[in-house]
Amino acid sequence: DVKVKDNVDFESLLLSQDVLAGLKKCGFEKPSPVQLKAIPLGRCGLDLVVQAKSGTGKTCVFSVIALESILLNSPGTQVLILAPTREIAVQIWEVINSISVTMSKLRCYAFIGGLPLSEDKVKLKKCHIAVGTPGRVKQLIEEQVLNTESIRLFILDEADKLMEQGFQETINWIFSSLPENKQVLALSATYPEVLAKHLTAYMRNPTFVRLNTDDLSLLGIRQYYKTVQFSPLQQKAFEIKCKALLDLFNAVSFQQCLVFSNYQLRAQSLSDVLNREGWPATYISGSQDQQDRLTAMSKLKSFKCRVLISTDLTSRGIDAENVNLVINMDIPHDHETYLHRIGRAGRYGTYGAAITLVSLGKEMANLKEIENKAKTRILPLSDPVSADLA
Ligand code: ADP
Ligand code: MG
Repeated sequence: DVKVKDNVDFESLLLSQDVLAGLKKCGFEKPSPVQLKAIPLGRCGLDLVVQAKSGTGKTCVFSVIALESILLNSPGTQVLILAPTREIAVQIWEVINSISVTMSKLRCYAFIGGLPLSEDKVKLKKCHIAVGTPGRVKQLIEEQVLNTESIRLFILDEADKLMEQGFQETINWIFSSLPENKQVLALSATYPEVLAKHLTAYMRNPTFVRLNTDDLSLLGIRQYYKTVQFSPLQQKAFEIKCKALLDLFNAVSFQQCLVFSNYQLRAQSLSDVLNREGWPATYISGSQDQQDRLTAMSKLKSFKCRVLISTDLTSRGIDAENVNLVINMDIPHDHETYLHRIGRAGRYGTYGAAITLVSLGKEMANLKEIENKAKTRILPLSDPVSADLA
């Protein structure tokens, strides 16, 4: 999915010296297929809907287009980037800052809920690129802290998520507060039909950049399910799945693992169980305060924990390069969520495995439906499990 063309490098995309130097510092030598296609189109000023699988480098696509569009000496915020979670917004901000290392005048900041508004006010005095979550950005515009007058580029990362019920109204509001004349970019690995329609309403004659969309799953990720035995009425379902999880950890070798649960409350108890059993684990949940959420993410990225337990808060966008195993304690609600979750392993063409714990009956039926809709194959895990899955 990220196989590069040998003879094409970033230089041939006619980028500025600063951006080229930044990409080199990031260790990016050649553009991935989506970068090769979408960066030139975006730099022509076209509105784009970009669809490419998880981990193929979409952040770099819009970061480069944004950085190349900035007039460093002109005041005011010129680019607004929205992401559905605070963690993704922070990550985007980090990527833009690394690509722009040599642009000493460039100012890019993240604006997210849960952190003090007073700091945002200071940052917005001079900010070329603003990255944020919809709620906080709306608030900043409403309170006239963020002046939208100079915004010429509007970017929606995880665009289909931003078109969902919970966000759509806010996005609409933000969109109508922006100048009419602007470029719009939308990026995601998935686009359910109905949401795509809402999205293109924001655009003028959008160009679609779609890569390998008939097979939505990643080539580098092996997908399995493991059946666990219990009847739906049994109270102990959670304990039984915990036991199955520990058995897997003891059997499979992995660097870092993300465990997804559909239930917020279980994340903490599962983390306690794992730590007791000797697996350095931590959890992240929407009910934590923002500082704890940021700490959990940085523990994952700095390898201070082996296992991060989460709800779908981190199923999208999060890029942690050592995660090579994803375990679903519960069946995700739809196939898009499934694909985003398993895409946390196997970043940028690396290898990984995803294992879904499933009870027979309704859960199995739901998983089969996901398998069909995602046009993928999820195989039964052999018994005993081979250690080198991931
Ligand atoms: P996506 O948003 O498509 O899921 P990301 O933008 O998070 O993917 O990128 C996934 C990983 O690939 C990141 O760790 C990033 O540093 C790496 N990456 C992106 N572009 C390149 C490139 N051209 N060369 C090498 N690595 C890259
Ligand atoms: Mg992304």
